[in-house]
Amino acid sequence: MVWYKENPQRLLREQQIASELLTAFESSIDGNGNASLCGDLELCSEHGHVYESVRIRLVYPSRFPARNQPPSVYLESHRDRWKKVANSHIESDWKLCLFVPGDSGIAFADDDSLRKLFGVIHTFLLKERIYQRRLAKAQRTGEIAEWPGPDRSHGLEGIREAIRDMGRVGRNDPCPCGSGLKFKKCHLGKL
Ligand SMILES: [Zn+2]
Repeated sequence: MVWYKENPQRLLREQQIASELLTAFESSIDGNGNASLCGDLELCSEHGHVYESVRIRLVYPSRFPARNQPPSVYLESHRDRWKKVANSHIESDWKLCLFVPGDSGIAFADDDSLRKLFGVIHTFLLKERIYQRRLAKAQRTGEIAEWPGPDRSHGLEGIREAIRDMGRVGRNDPCPCGSGLKFKKCHLGKL
């Protein structure tokens, strides 16, 4: 059974947190039967100055929070302004590449995990904003735009780096890639 039917209280909790942190908040079930939350997140400086707001959509995996699989986060606004080039950490379907899921440091079984996820998204989007400005400048000058701060490699290499930083991942542990499969049935062989 899909998670929000099994645990409607948890969906209410997610909606409650999201409605506190997002404006123009909407909750829906998407065409694949996945719970989805959408709204505008204000990007603020440390001093509370609002730079701009970014519309995001969170799509929950069907067994959330089993195997600590996080919601996927998509960019809904800025598609006309921001570019999803290789180092932008935006995938082809506008999914944000926030972290290697197993390495997020967030326990999604905790019912306030969404607050932590929003913290990660906020930090990520502030960096994305800087990166996109650098990218626009780089296109004029022919330089290479750099991501502000440390980041992971793409694809397999990024998963390899995450596993190295996580220490040990057991054969029966959830795969750090966030597929929801056991490590031995997913990336163990590919690495
Ligand atoms: Zn995997």
